[in-house]
Amino acid sequence: MIKFENVSLKSLNTFGFDILATELIEIHSEQDIIELYQNGQFNQPYKTIGGGSNLLLTENLSQLVLLNKLLKKELVSETETTVTVHFGAGENWHDAVMYCVDNGWGGIENLSLIPGSVGAAPIQNIGAYGVEIKDTFESLRAFNTKTGQFRRFSNQDCRFGYRDSYFKQHPGEWIICYVSFTLSKNPQTNSSYGDIQQILTEREITSPKIKDISNAVISIRSSKLPDPKDIGNSGSFFKNPVISKSQLSDIQQEYPNIKSFSINETQVKIAAGWLIETAGWKGYKEGNVGVHKNQALVLVHYGGGKGSEIKTLAEKIQHDIYNKFQIHLEFEVNIW
Ligand SMILES: Cc1cc2nc3c(=O)[nH]c(=O)nc-3n(C[C@H](O)[C@H](O)[C@H](O)COP(=O)(O)OP(=O)(O)OC[C@H]3O[C@@H](n4cnc5c(N)ncnc54)[C@H](O)[C@@H]3O)c2cc1C
Repeated sequence: MIKFENVSLKSLNTFGFDILATELIEIHSEQDIIELYQNGQFNQPYKTIGGGSNLLLTENLSQLVLLNKLLKKELVSETETTVTVHFGAGENWHDAVMYCVDNGWGGIENLSLIPGSVGAAPIQNIGAYGVEIKDTFESLRAFNTKTGQFRRFSNQDCRFGYRDSYFKQHPGEWIICYVSFTLSKNPQTNSSYGDIQQILTEREITSPKIKDISNAVISIRSSKLPDPKDIGNSGSFFKNPVISKSQLSDIQQEYPNIKSFSINETQVKIAAGWLIETAGWKGYKEGNVGVHKNQALVLVHYGGGKGSEIKTLAEKIQHDIYNKFQIHLEFEVNIW
């Protein structure tokens, strides 16, 4: 393990806020975690950080921060039709996707170019373009910092939901060390979501391979989402809220164009971006922060600002959306 004191987390959060951590430890192995446990480091609060792409840092961190650097990419087993691949939690998510795509193993290609680490992917069951990791997730191995024991979590144990999991409900208890996926050797591609099909048509691809899907997703994401290297952000700041169909009917009286997706017989998911844009926030700027000019769901940091400015803006948006639509917007981003 490598220890740092009074270190800036500016390069470790995609908003780019210059927050200090009193103590940061890079962990490279399970043995490092066991040693920290034996030294009593987990008797006090601590935080685990991966790529910092789903974090809003609002104040300096006096508790121990662990930077997960457990690396591994390994094919652990295969059948005639599937492979099971095992990744260290510290691996970069997009690199892991590319490793699978380049080997012809299908199932996570629609999740290309999502920033962050493999270990954080199960925390909010990352999803994009009609796919979530729960669709191919096999298991993970995590360390319980209260009991000092390792445990295997199956797909069911993780209780995956929309941007949700068991781990999101139990913060500060588990360190995810390894994650495994079962992928297909004869993949069926999924081009039904967003503009994927349009890109394939433009490229005259009629029988897409997983590499074609991945390339299409990369093109769409690169053209639509602000790159944190250019402008600080953490992707979608809010979750898409779920409301009842009867509430939707009420809202449709005033807003017949409201964007919704049926999720079961009684409930619909509403596009949070549509709510924020309709309420007039798109492109809004306040001090060093604002709402992205093309993506109302993305809050941005123009530089030189504080995480608390983003939090204040997010709360204002929350109140306004509630006043206008009686819908509560929940933060997708973790606030520290
Ligand atoms: C431009 C952009 C686009 C994005 N697009 C999407 C998208 O399409 N879909 C989507 O779902 N998300 C998206 N996100 C959000 C983000 O990429 C994901 O949530 C990602 O999984 C976060 O990974 P991370 O390593 O950066 O996690 P961090 O931000 O470092 O941490 C997030 C949470 O996970 C915890 N954590 C991290 N690693 C571990 C570990 N090993 N063990 C235990 N807890 C851990 C942290 O404590 C924290 O609570 C986007 C973000 C950005 C900036």
